Amino acid sequence: MLITNGKIITWEEPNQILEDQAIYISSGRIVEIGSQDLLQERFPKAERIDAGGQYVMPGNICAHTHFYGAFARGMAIPGPAPKDFPEILEKLWWPLDKSLGFEDVKSSAEVMLLDAIKHGTTTLIDHHASPNAIDGSLDVIARAVADSGLRAVLCYEVTDRDGIDKAKAGIRENMRFIEQISGQRSAGGNIAGTFGLHASLTLSDLTLEACRGAATGDVGFHVHVAEHEADEYDSLNKSGMRVVDRLSKHGILGPKTIVAHAIHIDMKEADLLSESSTWVTHQPRSNMNNGVGVAPVEGLLRAGVKVGLGTDGLSHKMWEEWKTAYLLHKVWHRDPRRFSGDAVVQIGVKNNAALANVFFPEAPFGQITPGAFADLIFVDYHPHTPLTAGNLPWQIIFGFHESMVTSTIVAGKVLMRNRELLTLDEEQVTARARELAPQVWERYNSFVP
Ligand SMILES: [Zn+2]
Repeated sequence: MLITNGKIITWEEPNQILEDQAIYISSGRIVEIGSQDLLQERFPKAERIDAGGQYVMPGNICAHTHFYGAFARGMAIPGPAPKDFPEILEKLWWPLDKSLGFEDVKSSAEVMLLDAIKHGTTTLIDHHASPNAIDGSLDVIARAVADSGLRAVLCYEVTDRDGIDKAKAGIRENMRFIEQISGQRSAGGNIAGTFGLHASLTLSDLTLEACRGAATGDVGFHVHVAEHEADEYDSLNKSGMRVVDRLSKHGILGPKTIVAHAIHIDMKEADLLSESSTWVTHQPRSNMNNGVGVAPVEGLLRAGVKVGLGTDGLSHKMWEEWKTAYLLHKVWHRDPRRFSGDAVVQIGVKNNAALANVFFPEAPFGQITPGAFADLIFVDYHPHTPLTAGNLPWQIIFGFHESMVTSTIVAGKVLMRNRELLTLDEEQVTARARELAPQVWERYNSFVP
């Protein structure tokens, strides 16, 4: 495949914006970037994709999401509004995930994947829960991901909140899936697995030990940490330790482990995350929506913690998350110098790419450079001021919108071309979800306390 007539944003170090250059793609990778005339001459038989003067850039990566959350949109929570995050879990998420059967899991994932393709997010790290449909749930999601053509990392969240049998089933589902998918991974598949844990506050020492014991080899974990103070209080009550210390003691941290949020950790916990090379993901829209506080992202970066950017399932519009992070840290510190556009790029582009590489190590992510994965998007943006390699972060924060994404390519396969979806049928996916939603909501109402 030969992509011509685009303004290429390479996101290399240093960033470049190339004009009159073409990108030659073969076997899912970017092979060559060079003079348009020359490459057209050299690869006359390659399928030609004319970018029509749009920006061509690496697809966005979402470091933490929940495909199972699609049915929450527009759903009413009965009774008084939840007053804090523990009540949001008890009154919204826990009864909702109990309401999901396999068909709902599939439909919810399809809605989320469709949203990702339309809005230019090409790799997603998911965290799944469906306690009444555990065994095989990751296969259902994996099939939806494979049909969509996107790239994803999947896991099942182990928790004690539904009893010991379901905790054990969660452990089994993670390891069954990881073992099964690792074969496909070595054959170059677009799906990887990791080991999901809900959060310290719903995990006993016994279950943590069982998870550590089951996750053999160099399997890492994906866990929520200190999203609300309640997680820290619970850990101190249960173990006399703070959350990150407790996870460290159980061998959960490490360079393949993802900790979502890390809002209420202390300096020693930041140290433990840094020393162990554990990943942290920041989800500012979700944090604001839940009223849980602000993660000390700049401090974590300065302490050497690798912080990436996720959506927590809100929608797969990564630039909305960029904008929120950019604004939130300024108002939080009452200082417009905080969290510059470069900091946003550090977490949203560079660190997310490095995190994706943990699971797909064969080629670089997040750059248009020879050898990199051909995960690309076209953006129909027409700046009224000069757009340069240097001011791009601010052009994106103040000018780009996900609706400007017109084409999405993953591993050299076109998933959306000129806003036409080629792998998923939007009408069918949304019709199926609308058909299932009333039943999910009815079951939710029977579970909600
Ligand atoms: Zn989450």
